[in-house]
Amino acid sequence: MTMTDAQEYQVNNINSAAFNAVKQTLEPFGLEPEWDAEWIGELSDDIADICERFFGKTEAEVYPYIEDDPYEGTDYFTTPDYWDCDCEHDYIHPKTETICKVCGANYNAATHDYSDSMTSEVIKFLAAGRKI
Ligand SMILES: [Zn+2]
Repeated sequence: MTMTDAQEYQVNNINSAAFNAVKQTLEPFGLEPEWDAEWIGELSDDIADICERFFGKTEAEVYPYIEDDPYEGTDYFTTPDYWDCDCEHDYIHPKTETICKVCGANYNAATHDYSDSMTSEVIKFLAAGRKI
């Protein structure tokens, strides 16, 4: 695929915004993240989604890259290491913890009562410095 200069500028713009958000978040911990297309791409997707839902921009406008993303429409990758309880907040739990201390949800791998967490959400939580 070939991007126009304007599209390329916008992709660089949103990627830098994503990188800087994580960089600033990690600063108080004395950590300096290196440029990594994997999490920068995920966070850029999320930023594009927020720009669309709250500010009336289309994904094509703010993040033209995802138009040709082979994974478009499949951004609900889940991770086998975390599960979601029914709590409204802080619902992501590592599978080493099978019970939610807040709502009492009990994860049982055999029954599939609770779904695996979305990879992008886990990353977002961790990037935001939230405890899981
Ligand atoms: Zn819960």
